[in-house]
Amino acid sequence: MGLEEKIPEGIALTTVDTMVNWARKRSIWPLGFGLACCAIEMMSTFASRFDVARFGMEVMRSSPRQADLIIVSGRVTQKMAPVLRKLYEQMPDPKWVISMGACASCGGVFNNYAIVQGVDRVVPVDIYVPGCPPRPEQLIDGILKLHAKIEKESLRAKPKSAARTQTADDAAKKADA
Ligand code: SF4
Repeated sequence: MGLEEKIPEGIALTTVDTMVNWARKRSIWPLGFGLACCAIEMMSTFASRFDVARFGMEVMRSSPRQADLIIVSGRVTQKMAPVLRKLYEQMPDPKWVISMGACASCGGVFNNYAIVQGVDRVVPVDIYVPGCPPRPEQLIDGILKLHAKIEKESLRAKPKSAARTQTADDAAKKADA
């Protein structure tokens, strides 16, 4: 006889990880942060036609201290990289990053000294959404993949802020050395 048969009906058993991850993935608060043309598609995703309210994430936060997701939507210039890093560091753990579009993920068509050739040099990226620009459906697919990733996380894991990434400043120091 299993344990489930011994306990009264209406009682469910789960783990703390499962319960917390279930709550976390349904209450993600994104930071209001757009960089270039991809941001228009991101805004469209948050509007009524595509409606991310079903995921509990329709209200974009104006402060990184109230946000746990940053969607990097567009190219990141070398000047913007330290600002992005600071915003990321101001977000409380647990926090996640979606790199939206070719420019954010690898510089896109802007293979030049002014553009960071991949935002994962500045912040740790959880999900990459391809396209130039990605359609809202693609961003929603990225959000669902992030949900799947959150489901597998553990409360015992190290906080993300401990992860080391190469910032634009680091890159500049290396170039000077
Ligand atoms: S990926 Fe395309 S749409 Fe997005 S910021 Fe770059 S050029 Fe603009």
